[in-house]
Amino acid sequence: MSQAHGYAAHDKHAHLVPFSFERRAPRAADVVIDILYSGVCHSDLHQAHDDWGGSIYPMVPGHEIIGRVIEVGSGVHKFKVGDLAGVGCLVDSCRHCAACEEDLEQYCEGGLTVTYNGRERDSGAPTYGGYSDFIVVDEHFAVKVSDQLDLKAVAPLLCAGITTYSPLRHWKVGPGQKVGVIGLGGLGHMGVKFAKAMGAQVVMITTSPDKGKDAQRLGADAVLLSTDADAMGAAANSFDFLLNTIPVPHDINPYLALLRRDRTMAMVGVLTELDPPPLGIGLILGRKSVAGSAIGGLKETQEMMDFCAEHNIVSDVEMIAIQDINQAWDRLLKNDVKYRFVIDMATLKQPS
Ligand code: NAP
Ligand code: ZN
Ligand code: ZN
Repeated sequence: MSQAHGYAAHDKHAHLVPFSFERRAPRAADVVIDILYSGVCHSDLHQAHDDWGGSIYPMVPGHEIIGRVIEVGSGVHKFKVGDLAGVGCLVDSCRHCAACEEDLEQYCEGGLTVTYNGRERDSGAPTYGGYSDFIVVDEHFAVKVSDQLDLKAVAPLLCAGITTYSPLRHWKVGPGQKVGVIGLGGLGHMGVKFAKAMGAQVVMITTSPDKGKDAQRLGADAVLLSTDADAMGAAANSFDFLLNTIPVPHDINPYLALLRRDRTMAMVGVLTELDPPPLGIGLILGRKSVAGSAIGGLKETQEMMDFCAEHNIVSDVEMIAIQDINQAWDRLLKNDVKYRFVIDMATLKQPS
C-alpha cells in the first residue's frame, strides 16, 4: 500500500477538499501511473451529488486520466516505465462473461468495477479516481497514448471521446448520412468531431445560440437551435442518427420528430427517468428507435485513441488548477465551459 493524495467529496453537499488515501501495492499485472492530466466529466458531478444513488464517500472523482507509467508489475507486457498511458471509466470486470469475452467490458454481466465510486472485486475497498497524484491499475484497463497529440487535450478522450465514438461506430455512421449531436458539452463536441471524421454530414443541435460560431472549427456543417420551434419543424424527418448527450431529464419527443423512418436516437446523457417519457406515437409513426449506449470496451477505447492520433482529433479544453475545481464544477452546472475542463495535476503539489 502507498499513500496517495487527491481531492475528495465527503458527502453529497460537500465541496471537494484535499484528501489522502491508500492505493493498493502493485500486483504482477498492474502498472502505476503518475497522473499528468485529469478531465472533468459531468458524471463526476452526478456521482458526487449522488444523483444516481448509492454513492460511496469520501469520493475522489476523475475517469479521464492521462499519465506516465512509473512502475510495472512482473507480468506486465503492454507498458514499460516511461510510457504514456490512459485510464477511463473502468478498472476491472469479471473477464469471463459473454460481454467481457466480446471486449465489451462496459456491459460486464458479472459487475464491472468503475474507476471511482466503485469497489475492488477482491477486497471490496472503494476505488478512487483521477483527481489524484497516481493510480494503480491492471494493464488491461489502461490504453496506449500517442505522444504526437497535445496530452492535456487527450485526457477527455478517455470518457467523452469513447462514449461518443462507440455509438457512432455501432450505428455505422458514415458518408451520405445526416447526423445530429444534441447537447454541445464535453461529450457532444467530441461527437461532432468524430461524426465529421467518419464522413457524415453533421448538425449541432444546441440550446446555446453562441455555440453556433464554433461550428466550423468543430467540424459541423450546420447548427439547429432546439429552442427555435420553426427551425425544428423544418428539420422534421431528416436525420439518419441522433446522439443525445443532454445530462438531465428532458422531453425527447421534439428530437424524435427529427428522425427519418427506421432511424435511431442513442441516449448517452440521462441515466435516470425521461421526463416526460417518449410518446408511443412518436416511435410508432416512423418505426423509430430510442437506444442507449455506455462508454466503450478497452479494445474499442484503444481503437478510438488510435483513430484520434490518425485524424489529429483532441478535445477543446480549458485548463484549471486542482485548487479551482469547485468553481469549475459550478460553471459546468451552469453550462459554462468550452468544451471540457482539464485539471493540470502538477498543481496538486502546489501549496493550497
Ligand atoms: P456537459 O459538458 O455538461 O454537456 C452537456 C450539454 O448538454 C451542455 O453543454 C448543453 O449543451 C446541454 N444541456 C445542459 N443542460 C441542458 C438542459 N437542461 N436542456 C437541454 N440541454 C442541456 O456534460 P458531459 O460531460 O458532456 O456529459 C453529458 C451527460 O452524459 C452527463 O449526464 C454524463 O453523466 C453522461 N455521461 C454518460 C456516459 C455514458 O457512458 N453513457 C459517459 C459519460 C458521461 P448546449 O449548450 O449545446 O445545449
Ligand atoms: Zn465521464
Ligand atoms: Zn464480465
